[in-house]
Amino acid sequence: MLEPNLARTKIIATLGPSCGKQSQMEAMILAGVDAFRFNMSHGDDATRRKWVASVKRARRKLARPVSMICDLRGPRIRMGRLDDDVELTVGEKLTLKVGKSMSKDGFLPVDYRAFVKDVSKGDRVLLRDGRAELVVLSKTDKLVQCRIDRGCTLSSNQGVNLPDSSVSAPALSAKDRADIAFAVEMKMDWVALSFVRTAKDIKTLQRAIAKQGGDIPIIAKIEHPEAVDNLDAILEATDAAMVARGDLAVEMGHEVVPTIQKRIVRRAIAASTPVIVATQMLESMMSAAQPTRAEVSDVANAVVDGVDAVMLSGETAVGEYALEACQLMHRIASRTESELFTENWRLKPSVNRLGLPGSTITLSIVNAAIQATHQANAQLILAFTESGRTPCLVSSFRAQVPIIAVTSRRATFHRLALLWGVRPAVIKRSRGFADRNRAAHLLLKESGLLKLDDLLTVLTGSFQVSGTTRTLRLLRLRDLV
Ligand code: PEP
Repeated sequence: MLEPNLARTKIIATLGPSCGKQSQMEAMILAGVDAFRFNMSHGDDATRRKWVASVKRARRKLARPVSMICDLRGPRIRMGRLDDDVELTVGEKLTLKVGKSMSKDGFLPVDYRAFVKDVSKGDRVLLRDGRAELVVLSKTDKLVQCRIDRGCTLSSNQGVNLPDSSVSAPALSAKDRADIAFAVEMKMDWVALSFVRTAKDIKTLQRAIAKQGGDIPIIAKIEHPEAVDNLDAILEATDAAMVARGDLAVEMGHEVVPTIQKRIVRRAIAASTPVIVATQMLESMMSAAQPTRAEVSDVANAVVDGVDAVMLSGETAVGEYALEACQLMHRIASRTESELFTENWRLKPSVNRLGLPGSTITLSIVNAAIQATHQANAQLILAFTESGRTPCLVSSFRAQVPIIAVTSRRATFHRLALLWGVRPAVIKRSRGFADRNRAAHLLLKESGLLKLDDLLTVLTGSFQVSGTTRTLRLLRLRDLV
């Protein structure tokens, strides 16, 4: 079945206590949510197991493609446990040490073994999402002396950012490796990695997933200055990218985020890498039924820029208006998209990807399909796919017509939910092309998207080898059998 939907721009909702029941998830899916994010920085596996079971039941019941994203904590640094909240006052000095909890000396613990080694005199140490700013004055073997340049109240386990230091922590911690095993066991559809710094981090994660017996595509979270420096290599190595604006703003300053966001989105689309914009998109709806005008514009601007997906974080995880935030996000995306394809405002990918290195036969065929669809005025593009690669390429051209991705693999069906404009459908595994064509014919006829005389563009690959789309056809629906 093809769902009636929906916006081309996909919506990700972060799971949390505000939306942990199956009935709430179902309502959110019906409101336009395409993916749920499991934030591994919070909560426990027992709760997450229940959520996985609920998402699976909800998507089966509604017969919808819905992605599950396992978001790894990565090399995030945190304070250790404090006995009490600590007031940080501007101008005062403060001593930090490595540790899990406070000791009698009263020095504040940072729960990262290489902390002293990684920081140098003059480096900033940002605490609690950048609310407090310290500068390193001096260090010994075990202690780091700082001056407080911006203060706040500090509690246990709050985040530490070191924007000026080269952090030597490995890309994956022991906790991340345990979470990867969990993601593989739960058959998650995507794994996101926080604080990616280089393309090597993506390879490390790929190997770790493979070691657990999994094959899950990766979302690289761009939130560290080194990732911005290494953007093109990361976009080439990863399966998708996320502009993680929360930590990006802490690390690089709020004022640089809008232009970096635009650069990441432009380059990702040009590289055919799906891209997500995240964090504080409808933040005020955590406690209010209405968003601010600026938040609505933020979502709409991301849609205009052609992002694959927009993400809700605290709004759905712990907010008071979780469902309303999803409904509103869907309304903003749909309304904005209704003007995206007007004559003067056509969404265009910025680069002709055929000029890029790595052009393949599939890419050439997809490029031809886009041109042919436009010239012949075909009503939709139908891509038969096993790996999901062909519809991903079609999607990256931001084709104006619906992109119907037909697969026999459930994993591909749910993964594709995240991609711009792609409407996945699952059919029974068949032995021949004729069976497949018949199933797609029926699906399209029932969907009401096409009449029998309407023209469509069909991309077909080999059954046996995924990633080998070789055939482009333009035909009428009645001839697809
Ligand atoms: C972010 O920092 O913007 C982000 C998406 O990551 P997290 O929610 O894990 O902090």
